[in-house]
Amino acid sequence: MKTETKGSRSTEMEIEEKVRPRWIEVNLDAVGRNTRRVKEMIGDGVKLLAVVKGDAYGLGMVPVAHTVISQGADLLGVTNPDEGVILRNKGIDAPIFIFRPLLPGEEELVVNYQLISSISSLQQAERLSDKARIYGVKVPVHLKVETGLGRTGFLPSSIKEHADRLFSLPGLEWEGIYTHFASAAGDPQFTRQQFRLFQSVVEGLKKRGIQFPLCHVCNSAAALLYPEMRLD
Ligand SMILES: *Cc1c(COP(=O)(O)O)cnc(C)c1O
Repeated sequence: MKTETKGSRSTEMEIEEKVRPRWIEVNLDAVGRNTRRVKEMIGDGVKLLAVVKGDAYGLGMVPVAHTVISQGADLLGVTNPDEGVILRNKGIDAPIFIFRPLLPGEEELVVNYQLISSISSLQQAERLSDKARIYGVKVPVHLKVETGLGRTGFLPSSIKEHADRLFSLPGLEWEGIYTHFASAAGDPQFTRQQFRLFQSVVEGLKKRGIQFPLCHVCNSAAALLYPEMRLD
């Protein structure tokens, strides 16, 4: 039994832990079937990036990652490099995509563990480029475009401003460009507006001779609701 030390902080949560043990059972066969079903639905030629951030939304990152990869997911998505490192250490060699911007000092992990980074600012790109040069490697990156979520990414106007510098940095392989919808499940009008803005950014860059193998915008809701937005 735990003895109280400094003051009395026997919280309600502690009491609840004692009286209510809890667990969840995850049916990995169902996760696998759903993965195959989504793959079927989106068809050949469209990649499936299975998001396993936040401990696979609480379902268990490592077992879910193994399952979705074995059942046809093409890439895994995580929030930060540390999650990517855990997956690599558990023997996962599928491509791993990091959603949030890299913090200063995380570049080395990205290079050593061969993770794919989102680029949301020029400084972030420059830091990663420096590290890639030191190691003599090319690091795959995706440009994150801010089209209305209001979180991270380049505003369309700032892409124009920084394009020359950004796309000439050594050591970076511009593998993709993407955005994130603010409310794909709830606001069709805003979602379409974000999509149009994204497409206009992609078009504008194409006119300047800059093209990306992977354009992507669909989170789960959009992938289901807007077939025409599935892109790559
Ligand atoms: C989590 C996340 C996604 C995936 O969203 P789902 O609704 O889980 O499919 C897509 N893009 C970004 C930037 C995210 O953080």
